[in-house]
Amino acid sequence: MCGIVGYIGHREAYPIVLKGLQRLEYRGYDSAGIALYDEKELKVSKTKGKVADLKAKMESEVDTSGTLGIGHTRWATHGVPNDVNSHPHISNSGNLVVIHNGIIENYESLKKELTKRGYKFESDTDTEVLVNLIEDVILKEKVKLGKAVQIALNQTVGAYAIAVFDKSKPNEIVVARLGSPLAIGVGDDEYFIASDASPFIEFTNNAIYLEDGEMAVVRRHKGVKVRKIFDDSLVDPYIHELQLNLEQIEKNNFDHFMLKEIYEQPSAIKDTYRGRLHAEEGIIRMAGIDDNLERFLNARRIVIVACGTSWHAGLVAEYIFEDLARIPVEVEYASEFRYRNPIINSDDIVIAISQSGETADTMAAIKLAKEKGAFVFGVCNVVGSSISREANAGAYTHAGPEIGVASTKAFTTQITVLTLIALKLAKAKGTISNTDYHMHLQELETIPQKIEIALEENDHIKEVAFKYKDARNCLYLGRGFNFPVALEGALKLKEISYIHAEGYPAAEMKHGPIALIDEEMPVVVIATRKGHYEKVVSNIQEIKSRQGKIIGIVTEGDTSVRDLADYVIEVPDTIEALTPLLTTIPLQLLSYHIAVMLGKNVDQPRNLAKSVTVE
Ligand code: GLU
Repeated sequence: MCGIVGYIGHREAYPIVLKGLQRLEYRGYDSAGIALYDEKELKVSKTKGKVADLKAKMESEVDTSGTLGIGHTRWATHGVPNDVNSHPHISNSGNLVVIHNGIIENYESLKKELTKRGYKFESDTDTEVLVNLIEDVILKEKVKLGKAVQIALNQTVGAYAIAVFDKSKPNEIVVARLGSPLAIGVGDDEYFIASDASPFIEFTNNAIYLEDGEMAVVRRHKGVKVRKIFDDSLVDPYIHELQLNLEQIEKNNFDHFMLKEIYEQPSAIKDTYRGRLHAEEGIIRMAGIDDNLERFLNARRIVIVACGTSWHAGLVAEYIFEDLARIPVEVEYASEFRYRNPIINSDDIVIAISQSGETADTMAAIKLAKEKGAFVFGVCNVVGSSISREANAGAYTHAGPEIGVASTKAFTTQITVLTLIALKLAKAKGTISNTDYHMHLQELETIPQKIEIALEENDHIKEVAFKYKDARNCLYLGRGFNFPVALEGALKLKEISYIHAEGYPAAEMKHGPIALIDEEMPVVVIATRKGHYEKVVSNIQEIKSRQGKIIGIVTEGDTSVRDLADYVIEVPDTIEALTPLLTTIPLQLLSYHIAVMLGKNVDQPRNLAKSVTVE
């Protein structure tokens, strides 16, 4: 995972690289490091911990001048997070400096070979092997840095986005990508390198996104030359015009990105359906579906592949697609799908869901599905991301940048996109009555307003959070459309508060988890007055009889659950298929407040990273 940043131009590199690392810290925060070159000397600082620790260290230890710099914020894969394993890594001669996002899978055999030839290694990382391999190529083949990087990468197996420079020729940075994202910001006689465009957005709107298997030599005053790593052909790079703005990637007045993003959901969902949902005319326009409608209508089934929260959105979609459009759906963890020889053929449609569009396992699942002849449809948030480019067609969620590691608005906007698709297909297939179709469209348009109402429960949710913040375990129960919401609620609590939590289908509780219930155990039950309401109320009775503490997520005005529960949190009424968009909100807030009360790092929970670009 990890974030990489680089700068070469006429400004001081340090503030740009440092700020860039802060913006990319969501990608990893085990350690951080920066290398600067100031025409005379190379200065490298690195430290275990956050970018803030690096800043303190650098400003007290080194002179931070120089117009060339690269920086890294790490999510460790090879070697514990400590100072030595932090990037940048330097070659044995002291000339080459590299930062790397990804994994060099054959690093052990390469390391053995290089050790035999006299190379010494300080760290446990795969990255230090790569930088010395490049050096070895330069010495053996007498080639320039760009060529050496290319030759070295032809000997490696794995995934990478790298940036490397040679302090003896400090007018160029060589970058390359395979499986990890890399953007080059093209400014006015200055160039920026980063894992995504956020580090350079205030300097330029022009960016080149390297494709997998491409590398570039970025030269001071001379521009960017892109070529293919494996067949050496030159590439004419496409310069994208970025839509991102600075405000979208700042916290504004919120204490945490997660809270800001929870509150952004009404506007994010509007952005998701803007231009697509025309409730008055009864039309849904989505180019990715319109252009491939026959294929969708004739599909034998839909297979959804995703990881984490996106997988939960996929589960909600399974209920919605099957209920409304009567298309069989299977939902798979991308990491399992890719390694289990799945039965997929050209009658299948594979929908891949990923907020970042860079999730390594989901990307690999797509490639496998395409090899087997399936049509792949991507649902991503990040425009121009690898998955969005690899898919045959797709729909963006348009949620805006999501920075908090715990996903919130990505989830609800993914559900919105998938609901639009299901409704569109249901209409085309005639599996939904006209009245129901129009009702769903109109109701979907009211969801942002209803989320605003759900957010008004915030203070009350804080009280509930205070009451249960010291729980060691927590159960989340839901049925039907809200079973995946229970899974998502439990995941939110686990990932940011480190309280053990499990989501279950409410009725399944009797087959095991009920044994855990005692007077210490909070049980969050989603019990909206739709679907299997009475059944869920019976489940609540069963918990109550075993002294469990009940927090009910209920429809406004509910009385039955209120009589049984210790606390209820209300959400507005809506059509059953749309309830997940509302019931998710209090669960996000509950986890958020508990984590804050426990003093946890909400936006950067331990061991996690936002976009999982390693398998
Ligand atoms: N494999 C490298 C390491 O463990 C890079 C990991 C990353 O992407 O941060 O240091």
